[in-house]
Amino acid sequence: MLQALLQTTKQWLSQLGPLNTTCPLCAEPSAHLICPSCSKMLPTISSQCFQCGLPLSMVDTPQNAVRCGQCVKSPPAFDLCISPYHYALPVSQFVTRLKFQHKLYYAQILAELLMAKIEQHAEGLPDCIIPVPLHKKRLRQRGFNQALEIARPIARRYAIKLDTHCCTRVISTAPQMGQNKKSRQQNIRHAFKVSTRFHYKHVAIIDDVMTTGQTVNELARELRKQGAERIQIWSAARA
Ligand SMILES: [Zn+2]
Ligand SMILES: [Zn+2]
Repeated sequence: MLQALLQTTKQWLSQLGPLNTTCPLCAEPSAHLICPSCSKMLPTISSQCFQCGLPLSMVDTPQNAVRCGQCVKSPPAFDLCISPYHYALPVSQFVTRLKFQHKLYYAQILAELLMAKIEQHAEGLPDCIIPVPLHKKRLRQRGFNQALEIARPIARRYAIKLDTHCCTRVISTAPQMGQNKKSRQQNIRHAFKVSTRFHYKHVAIIDDVMTTGQTVNELARELRKQGAERIQIWSAARA
């Protein structure tokens, strides 16, 4: 019995990956999750649209000050986006290791990177966190929802409700990358269904990577229809 328990614990620890005292990038001991010298190499977005997170080629833009042309012309259904990194190494590697190698430890790293930025932001915390739901077919293939795994430590730390039941993905869509804008839009339309019992006013939608923003925009649109008034997007990376 004890033997079996020890075995399970060992398996569990090995799945968890390296312990927090070792930097996952340089393998040096570190008091921080990512050591200070590796932190400097993270692909931080220096200037971006506050609403959709699109990287902009400007310098020294004050936070919450600039919107991209697309957001001015046709604003998305969400209010702001906290998406601090380019989808580039090593952040892109954290995402692929999480999604395709099933190393859940990287969800914790992405959550920590995200929380560091959420805490710098003037926007207050939401009533509830909603991870972008996967279609049940995709969930069965992958075995877990990466957005939910990133959301868990964030919800725990801030003591915010993590709601995985209020919305479902009813249409299985093809991956968004590598499609033109029009087909992406048609692809994602009505992909989500929000419960009529949905009652939150201020929510944060979490995704691992925000690519075009169409997926989170479609979910935000449905949440607004059910009464959401303030919607933030939290994603570790912006492609
Ligand atoms: Zn390091
Ligand atoms: Zn924008």
